[in-house]
Amino acid sequence: MKITNKQGLPDVLVNAITNDPYTRGDGVYRSITELINPPQIAYLKRKYDDKLTMDIADRMYALYGRLIHQVLEDSGESVADMITEQRLYTDIFHRRISGSFDSFTYSNKTLNDYKFVSVYKMNNGVPKEYTQQLNCYAYLLSEAGTDVENLTVTTMYRDWSASRAGNKNYPDSIAQVHPVELWTRAQQKDYLEDRVYAHKSYNESVWSLHSCSPEERWERGATRQTRKQVRCESYCEVASVCPQYKEILETKYGE
Ligand code: SF4
Repeated sequence: MKITNKQGLPDVLVNAITNDPYTRGDGVYRSITELINPPQIAYLKRKYDDKLTMDIADRMYALYGRLIHQVLEDSGESVADMITEQRLYTDIFHRRISGSFDSFTYSNKTLNDYKFVSVYKMNNGVPKEYTQQLNCYAYLLSEAGTDVENLTVTTMYRDWSASRAGNKNYPDSIAQVHPVELWTRAQQKDYLEDRVYAHKSYNESVWSLHSCSPEERWERGATRQTRKQVRCESYCEVASVCPQYKEILETKYGE
C-alpha cells in the first residue's frame, strides 16, 4: 500500500505509523480480525496492495490504539497470574488462522480485550463484532489447552466528556468493563468455520454472491434519497478498487 502525507506531518510521526510491527504470523491465511470483517475487504486488500493508497492522518487512531496496547501489555507483564498479547494459531479447513488476545487472567479465567473507542460505539451495548472476536480468541485458547470462563471488554473512551456523565445512554466513567456473552465451544467452532468458508468462497468476478451486507457497509438512512454507505464512503481501505462500491456509485442503489 502506498502511503501519502497530505498534511505534511513530521517524519517522526510518519515513521511511527509506517513502522507498525503488527504481523498476523507466518503462513497465516487470515487473522481473527480479518475473518470477522467482510471477505471482500481481505481479498481486495491483498490483491490490490500495490494500487491502494492511504494517508498518514487516517492512521492516527490506529497509532493511539497501538500506544495504549503497548502500555497495557508492559503493565500486564508485572501482574502475577496474567498473560498478555499472546498470538495463537489453529487450522480450519486446512487454512492457518491466528489471533492475538490482549489479556487472560488465570485466577478468574477471564479473557479481556481493550478498546479505545468513541462513546457512540457502545451506545447499544457490546457490539456484535466484539462478541465474535472474543469468542474466537476463547476458541484459540481452548485449542491451546486453556479454558475460558468469562469474557470482558474494557472500553476507554477517546471523546468522553465529564459534563455529560449521568445523561441517559452516556457512560458514567471514561473507562468501563463490560461482560461479553460466552458461546459454547461448538458455537465458537461453527462460527469460525462459517467465516473461513465465506472467505474461501469470495470470488471477485462473482462478487455479488459474497458481497458486503448493508450492515457491513454501515448503511444509514431510511430512504433511497438519504441512504449512505458510511464505511464505503469514509472508512474502507479498498473502496477505490471495490466492484460492489463501484456498482453502488453507478446505479445509486445505495444512495
Ligand atoms: S467499499 Fe464497501 S462494499 Fe466494498 S469492500 Fe469496502 S465496505 Fe465492502
